[in-house]
Amino acid sequence: PMTSSTAGGPRRLGVMGGTFDPIHHGHLVAASEVAHLFELDEVIFVPTGRPWQKSESTVTSAEDRYLMTVIATASNPRFSVSRIDIDRPGPTYTIDTLREMRKIYGPEVELFFITGADALAKMLTWRNAADMFTLAHFVGCTRPGHRLTDPGLPKGGVSLVEVPALAISSTECRDRVRAGEPIWYLVPDGIVQYINKRHLYRQ
Ligand code: ATP
Ligand code: MG
Repeated sequence: PMTSSTAGGPRRLGVMGGTFDPIHHGHLVAASEVAHLFELDEVIFVPTGRPWQKSESTVTSAEDRYLMTVIATASNPRFSVSRIDIDRPGPTYTIDTLREMRKIYGPEVELFFITGADALAKMLTWRNAADMFTLAHFVGCTRPGHRLTDPGLPKGGVSLVEVPALAISSTECRDRVRAGEPIWYLVPDGIVQYINKRHLYRQ
């Protein structure tokens, strides 16, 4: 069943934070590749509550973003979705996400927080940046249009990895829907259908 080459050792959990407005194949490929490279037992997708860097009015409801994340990950036995950020009141800070993960999964699990190059570059501006590195190992992934560099994180706190390049962003997906352009194959089929059913991103 769910054995890995690290079976017997501490559980290795990936944490993929994001707004997922909507989730797209760039997110899924990055999570899948990091899971492979780091022999993760599971990747937990954590949709943000209210992202502190993005203004509230422009972000789709947490419930729609959560459901899209569930739909997109449902077929992968190693992917799951957590409600911890959308159920916590107030803006989402990654330090709180990681502390809650530790509370839920225990001190012995190994946490790998997965980010794209753009998010990694801004990490030192995140709240309690220094404490975050004591709670998780950070994995920065290549992303087309962004340079992947260690922004000066503590030694050993971050790994930089190359993942298959998909030049897809949620912003572009939303813009395309608004303009009546197709997003088939940029996002999973179920996400195209959910966006249509719920009339998301129309104006
Ligand atoms: P938006 O355009 O709304 O900011 P986004 O496409 O950047 O959306 P987010 O939800 O902001 O998606 O990103 C969540 C995480 O996934 C971030 O760490 C981001 O860097 C990473 N990511 C997003 N798209 C890609 C991609 N195409 N390749 C690699 N990493 C990605
Ligand atoms: Mg983004």
